[in-house]
Amino acid sequence: MFSLIKLPRSLTINQVPKGFHEDGILSGYRQPYSSARECVLSLFQLTNETLNIWTHFLPTWFFLWKLLMVALAMMEDKEEGHSRYQWPLLAYLLSCCIYPLASSCAHTFSSMSVGARHICFFFDYGAISLYSLGSAVAYSSYTFPEKWVNSTFHHWYVSLAVLNSIICTTLACCSRLGLPFLHYNADNIKGLPDYQATRLTKPLRIVAFAYPFFYDNIPLFYRLFVCVGEGCTANEANGVHHVHIQLAFLTGFLFTTHLPERLAPGSFDYIGHSHQLFHVFAIAGTVLQMKAIELDMVLRQTWLQTHSPPITFGNTLGVFLVSVAANLCVIYIFCLALFSEERQKMSNINKGCL
Ligand SMILES: [Zn+2]
Repeated sequence: MFSLIKLPRSLTINQVPKGFHEDGILSGYRQPYSSARECVLSLFQLTNETLNIWTHFLPTWFFLWKLLMVALAMMEDKEEGHSRYQWPLLAYLLSCCIYPLASSCAHTFSSMSVGARHICFFFDYGAISLYSLGSAVAYSSYTFPEKWVNSTFHHWYVSLAVLNSIICTTLACCSRLGLPFLHYNADNIKGLPDYQATRLTKPLRIVAFAYPFFYDNIPLFYRLFVCVGEGCTANEANGVHHVHIQLAFLTGFLFTTHLPERLAPGSFDYIGHSHQLFHVFAIAGTVLQMKAIELDMVLRQTWLQTHSPPITFGNTLGVFLVSVAANLCVIYIFCLALFSEERQKMSNINKGCL
């Protein structure tokens, strides 16, 4: 069927504008300024984005299936307390569906224009922040070590995670073009080298992703690596939490180092570059994190239901929805600045024509 559809040939790095360049990737670029239809069709053509898209698109369906299974089981559960106990899991699973879906959409439509590319990744960053918040909601309800349950840190943990999600989406969006309205101009939108904040791009983005990870995992790091004696919650889930943390570090390592393509630019353009590996290990990490959370949830249910703060709609799905709204507001401000810059550029062109 696809032989009937003529797909445009892929391009080398010298044939696409600077704003579309990826470090260490020399070929396999899609046509810049593709239509939405061409972007969707590019899923079936081998380009440097194809595996980035599929490695997050397929897992989205697996996570969605998990979410539906939990939601259906909750609806059939007649006991209200038991159903309520699963709300944090539901918020976490929602975040697990959103981040790979946003990522695969971002990678699919990022070749539409330089502006669309920025907007696509603004949403991608927002979804990653929501995933951090979803993890915090689940950790607060199921994985906190016994010693810390009901502590002051426990009571503030999720509220601070909401704040982190807003700060981190803002930082990650800033890492592309600087502050909206203040730093935005035609040159940095096009990715031209005189953009003065370029040197801050990578560190800012790393901080935006690493900071919520470290914050979310404070209770887990304490439980696994520091706590001794009673109240440390040593159970079967600990081993799985360990592997998840190792995978998370590997994911961060791939994201920051750009290995292996940094060592051999052009050799991993289609298969095996760091961003694909980053996607694969992020999904593997999420699957293990999910398993560890579910283990804690089942093994500790009786203890948690008698000792933990009560689970309410407000401290689970409620905070998640508030965070979705707040993150959308942040993204809206960044998009608005982009559109107003584009409008300014168009009006300058029109004035020049008159
Ligand atoms: Zn990605």
